[in-house]
Amino acid sequence: MLTLSDFPLWFLRAFAITMGLLWGSFLNVVIYRVPRGMSVVRPGSACPSCGAPIKPWDNVPVLAYLWLAGKTRCCKTRLSPRYPLIEAMIGLLMWAVLEVVILRLHPATPAWQALVVYVVDLLFALGLVGAAFIDLEHVYIPEFIPYGLSALGVLSFWTRPPLTIREVVVGAFVGFLIVWLPFDFLYRKLRGRTGMALGDATLVMTAGAWFGVEGAFFALMAGAVQGTLAAGLMWFVKGKLDDHEAVARERAELEEALAKLTPEERAEVEASGRDPILDEPEGGLGARIPFGPFLALAMLEYLLVGRDVMQAAFGVGE
Ligand SMILES: [Zn+2]
Repeated sequence: MLTLSDFPLWFLRAFAITMGLLWGSFLNVVIYRVPRGMSVVRPGSACPSCGAPIKPWDNVPVLAYLWLAGKTRCCKTRLSPRYPLIEAMIGLLMWAVLEVVILRLHPATPAWQALVVYVVDLLFALGLVGAAFIDLEHVYIPEFIPYGLSALGVLSFWTRPPLTIREVVVGAFVGFLIVWLPFDFLYRKLRGRTGMALGDATLVMTAGAWFGVEGAFFALMAGAVQGTLAAGLMWFVKGKLDDHEAVARERAELEEALAKLTPEERAEVEASGRDPILDEPEGGLGARIPFGPFLALAMLEYLLVGRDVMQAAFGVGE
């Protein structure tokens, strides 16, 4: 049987990075089409501006963006740098997975088993990077991503020794509850609105399903610290926190709708509780910064270095 040690290192690296780049390219399609309710398989790659089909060689990850100088060939529309960025991110993440996960497996590990571990971690990276970029653009996370990743995390517990099935199942429950109970359930009872979206609770559930209770707490803490740092940096650089584009749009639409109402209707709406978005001062610290991308970032960090960091910091996981 073929084992991991039968393959030269250059081949493993080329394979890990190339696969990452190609699936990163597909992820761009998912990020663009899923929130717009479009199929991810049909039609094939087409220019978002004029609809012309894209030639395979103009679809080569990262490189095509460079030789097209950031513009489409058909109608010279500017291409978002998000496309090569996401391709490069998945390519680099999968290179890191090879170095710190796959190459730490025993050299006698059957090749198919190493491939399963690679595919499982590839799906993890694709799901999290996809969730992060969809959340950044639309302030929502398609449900199938955290639920799908949670199921995959429980089923693939054996690829992350010494985790047990019990630890990942408990981790998923605890991960969901530590966010949902205080931030959704209680907050809604006390303040009449939610503090964090259900999407965030399901993402912390994903962290628990992948790394147990310890991983769920790591994701929540590391995500909160990095999200706060990013918000602080944005506030420092710009002097204010921009409302998220989609939130700003929603706010404008609501204000417009309110302006059209008769005074009686408006009084009725206000009595029944205004939309919380309108009660928050624009650009203040109440501005909504999507938390999803920071949770996703923390989970990828945990996959690559989490166990080492936790061991060094607290001596856990020995
Ligand atoms: Zn075009």
